[in-house]
Amino acid sequence: MNEIIEQLVELQEIDLKIDQIDNDIKAEQEELDQRIAELEQRQNRIGEQEARITELEKERRTLEDEMTDKIAHVKERQSKMMQVQTSREQTALLKEIEDAKKNAKENEDKIVAIMEEVERLNASMTEEKNLLKAEKELLTEAREKVSGAIDDLNKGKKTKLNRREKQAEAINGSMIRKYELLRSRRSGLAIVNVLQGVCQGCFMNLPPQQFNRLLRGDQILECPSCQRLLYHQRQDEE
Ligand SMILES: [Zn+2]
Repeated sequence: MNEIIEQLVELQEIDLKIDQIDNDIKAEQEELDQRIAELEQRQNRIGEQEARITELEKERRTLEDEMTDKIAHVKERQSKMMQVQTSREQTALLKEIEDAKKNAKENEDKIVAIMEEVERLNASMTEEKNLLKAEKELLTEAREKVSGAIDDLNKGKKTKLNRREKQAEAINGSMIRKYELLRSRRSGLAIVNVLQGVCQGCFMNLPPQQFNRLLRGDQILECPSCQRLLYHQRQDEE
């Protein structure tokens, strides 16, 4: 294999390991972010339940005030019954009393329904709050774990970056730039093997003549389809 190609292959191996470390760091961070987002969702649900309870309590107080007024009205009308002269007036008054009683009863039913809902919401909110507390504790642990894991990954990355720097020093600057440009445009792979005449970067067949030149191993060749640099290294199955 051409010496420059060999150095580039080695450089790329280091770079791919660095990429893997970056991905691992990202994955750790994303998992943590996901947990934080879930925790925030639970916190929001608790907030919504609290707001709903406040709203229901306010509605209940209004209904209770109305009911007090209606009961007072019934009493006032009942006391008026004594003074009523005609049966027509009596019938009208009785109807008024019945209606007010009916209204008061309706209010009472609504109040009971509200109290039941508040009770249900409170129970669910208590459960959510307990879960939130437990999740917060777990999150604190997870944060420490993730930050430790990321520290370790970064240490490993630093070692690799030092190795990379040394490896890159040995290679001509314009070749490094070409390699880096290719890596940025070709999903991290600037230099690829050719197996049975097929570029392992884009999986297109190399023209036979070019493949033969590659087999001689003295030239730096590019894939005509993806422009990646090529090398040839036999694999067991070949
Ligand atoms: Zn290719």
